[in-house]
Amino acid sequence: QASVVLRTIARDLKLKEFVMNTPWLYQLLLAAAKRYIAGESRGDALDRAAGLQAAGYAISLEYIGENTADLTECRKATDEFLALIRESSQRGLPVHICFDLSHIGLMIDEELALSHAEELAAAARENGQILMISMEESAKTEAIYRLYERLASRHEHVGITVQAHLHRTWDDLPRLLDLPGRIRLVKGAFREEPQVALPRSKELQTRYLELTEKIVQAGHPLSIATHDQQIVQAVREQGFLSESQVELEMLCGVCEEEARMIRDEGVPLRLYVTYGTEWYLYLCHRIAEHPPQLYRALADMLEP
Ligand code: FAD
Repeated sequence: QASVVLRTIARDLKLKEFVMNTPWLYQLLLAAAKRYIAGESRGDALDRAAGLQAAGYAISLEYIGENTADLTECRKATDEFLALIRESSQRGLPVHICFDLSHIGLMIDEELALSHAEELAAAARENGQILMISMEESAKTEAIYRLYERLASRHEHVGITVQAHLHRTWDDLPRLLDLPGRIRLVKGAFREEPQVALPRSKELQTRYLELTEKIVQAGHPLSIATHDQQIVQAVREQGFLSESQVELEMLCGVCEEEARMIRDEGVPLRLYVTYGTEWYLYLCHRIAEHPPQLYRALADMLEP
């Protein structure tokens, strides 16, 4: 129930506008968001990435944003990603650059999103970076796979995020395994109808592990992106993480203690670092997927 309320709040644009235009509220929520985001600027993200890399983690970087319906804003977002690719390379950070196709044009036109993504893929190739496409709600899944297929057939350094909770994922897997790009397996962050997806459950854990096994057995590059310690333990016991192309991936600011322990045990672990001014929705998502985090967010707001 708490999760549903929080997701509804997140989507309320009037409330978002009120927060963004009320300086004291903005500062309070930004204090809570800073647990999950590096900051509002590219420099903040690169500094955090450099620090985490020095501490032994591999890094993903995302400039936060989604559902951008304005052409100029899509162009601006693409330019920001291009600068991120260039500057992370100049600073010697071999990162995965992650983005939502709806941030760079999918809401306007698939061809626009494709041409912007092509620019990112060319820049990533030039700078030796990997590009990872995020997965959005199920209404967009087919369009995202379509664009991924067109991109990945030309760019082997472009990968895709796959949601284990969707019933369709088993059927999608063969077409994804036919392409060289890395697969990032997640449970799925969006609330979906039961005929479309499984809720958080033992059944979802089992499906996640079966999909993992299938991808590993195919010898495909895989990021096991979860904080679910039962899954982490199972993939470690099954030896999946000793495959050279397989790694764990976790969101920065979530399960930090577990992440440190995993890193200290020498398991390959990538942390997902985000930044940007569109942190409001990202904060709501993180709290909604684990409502007890609300107390932590309140504590973060009150901390001097
Ligand atoms: P859960 O069952 O949700 O959580 C397992 C345990 O982890 C919880 O019991 C809790 O202890 C801890 N935990 C989980 N979330 C939190 C939190 N916010 N705060 C504190 N503790 C928490 N989803 C998409 O739909 N599309 C994407 O493109 C996408 N990209 C992602 C990239 C990465 C690197 C990661 C790690 C996740 C991504 N997600 C994406 C989110 C993902 O779908 C899940 O919503 C998220 O990872 C939580 O699921 P879980 O596997 O950790 O399992």
